[in-house]
Amino acid sequence: MTYYADLTPYTYDSDNWDPGAPGPRRGVAVLNAGWLDRGRSYPQGSPPPGLVETLKRMTRTHRAQQTRGFHLCPWCASRRSSRRPGRPEGSAEIRVIGRGVAYAAPELIAHYVEAHDYLPPAEFMEAVLSSEVAA
Ligand SMILES: [Zn+2]
Repeated sequence: MTYYADLTPYTYDSDNWDPGAPGPRRGVAVLNAGWLDRGRSYPQGSPPPGLVETLKRMTRTHRAQQTRGFHLCPWCASRRSSRRPGRPEGSAEIRVIGRGVAYAAPELIAHYVEAHDYLPPAEFMEAVLSSEVAA
């Protein structure tokens, strides 16, 4: 999977941006969150209550940029057990509206927080937990 540092400008799939799709309007800065990869360190910690549940909900309610392929979790995908059903994978992103910005995160971000202790940027977590689908 492609690595991007947290809070850097989103560039991954901007050519494929559909201005008619639900989500942030054109002209709003979109920042990366949760684009992790093996061999890159990332912030770890205990997430605030409700974060994992809300991120999971957002994979249905805030879904964007559906692709034909799948992203596999870079840590779980290397295990032999990853071939069984239920392996962590994602094929889309979620978009979260923050204060004057929007965040683009891979669908797997909920899994990263839950299974790999990833602690997203504070401003991203605040945007998630103040969304209308917050747990
Ligand atoms: Zn994993």
